[in-house]
Amino acid sequence: MSSWPKVYLPPIEGAVFKPLKLSDSNNGVVELDNNAQFSIYVCGITPYDATHLGHAATYLAFDLINRYKLLSGAQLNFIENVTDIDDPLLERAKRDNQSWQDLANTQTDLFRSDMSALRVLPPAALVKVTDSFDLIESFISRLDKAGHLYKLDNDYYFSVANFLAQIPMPIEQAIDIFAERGGDPKRAGKGHPLDPVIWIGNVDGDPGWPSSFGFGRPGWHVECTAIACNYLDKSGSNPIIDLQGGGSDLIFPHHFMSAQIVKAAYGRDFAKHFVHAAMIGLDGEKMSKSKGNLVFVSKLLSDQVDPMVIRWALLSGHYQQDRQWSSDLLVTAQDQVDQVRSALARSEVAKTDRLIADLIGDIANNLDTPTALNRLLIWAKQSESDPVVNQSGQISRAIDALLGLAL
Ligand code: ZN
Repeated sequence: MSSWPKVYLPPIEGAVFKPLKLSDSNNGVVELDNNAQFSIYVCGITPYDATHLGHAATYLAFDLINRYKLLSGAQLNFIENVTDIDDPLLERAKRDNQSWQDLANTQTDLFRSDMSALRVLPPAALVKVTDSFDLIESFISRLDKAGHLYKLDNDYYFSVANFLAQIPMPIEQAIDIFAERGGDPKRAGKGHPLDPVIWIGNVDGDPGWPSSFGFGRPGWHVECTAIACNYLDKSGSNPIIDLQGGGSDLIFPHHFMSAQIVKAAYGRDFAKHFVHAAMIGLDGEKMSKSKGNLVFVSKLLSDQVDPMVIRWALLSGHYQQDRQWSSDLLVTAQDQVDQVRSALARSEVAKTDRLIADLIGDIANNLDTPTALNRLLIWAKQSESDPVVNQSGQISRAIDALLGLAL
């Protein structure tokens, strides 16, 4: 499936890009290699409720990483999936008496236009699960041949028996989270409550596809691993990709299981780094589908909110900090964007050379966007009181390239 339109990335002349520091969920703050190639797989949406501000904040975080790596001269191999067949999607379609394909297609289109409006760099491929059955089936066959699967009724499960000791929390807690996030720990007959389903045999007329594992559809974790390995395992490297990313709600079980599944299938590690973006709440409450308090990017856009103001508002918090959205945040962001735009419109502004170097340093320092935006506001004020150079074009291009803010 096509991604969304390309976003122009202006070069920042003469800039020096230090290695990017990021907080790896397994290893703390790490410095990324300055390799010529950088492969990143970001877990995409399940298209029945797109794009709320939690999604947007997550994709903005990985957009900053992609921008930085490209500006540093790396060749970016960026793939993202769309989980366009999954229980919540089927349930929503049934509830609304709508075909699941129509629901998935309209929400995916909305997601693409939201990402485009927010100036997120598109992936080389936005890969739908329903377009990927062949490659997922061959990945599952690899797991099966290596002896990691077992059959239960019409379904196939992946056994966690070999790596129980690596589960990063007490087992009872892991089981609770597994159940909250789509797992079926209580199903009778499983080898272990945490074994994830790999192939779901067709039930009750749900959609399915023929395969060597019967008529049905793949489980969630194996979809991402199969797609990532198919598109990004070009050199037989170990680990296979440089970075897997997503929201912090994917740390367990999704990314943990993905890593184990790839290891079992290939005998190699999946990702060198795992990076996760924090959650966005609304007015003091967690923003969630069950609470029905999601704020959608498309709704804000249809209310004539400037997408650059939404982007500024989301970047005003740090990507690893759970934070709150509120209408006040949007008002503040609009005011701050206006201040910077007003400075950029001047014929003479405060000096920018040091500012650009500092902004690059802020992003290199674990995507410290709050500090970067604060610097821009100080510069905007200085430009009003002490304009000395004709360099507003230079800073305008730099903040567009680094922060994705076209002001
Ligand atoms: Zn995923």
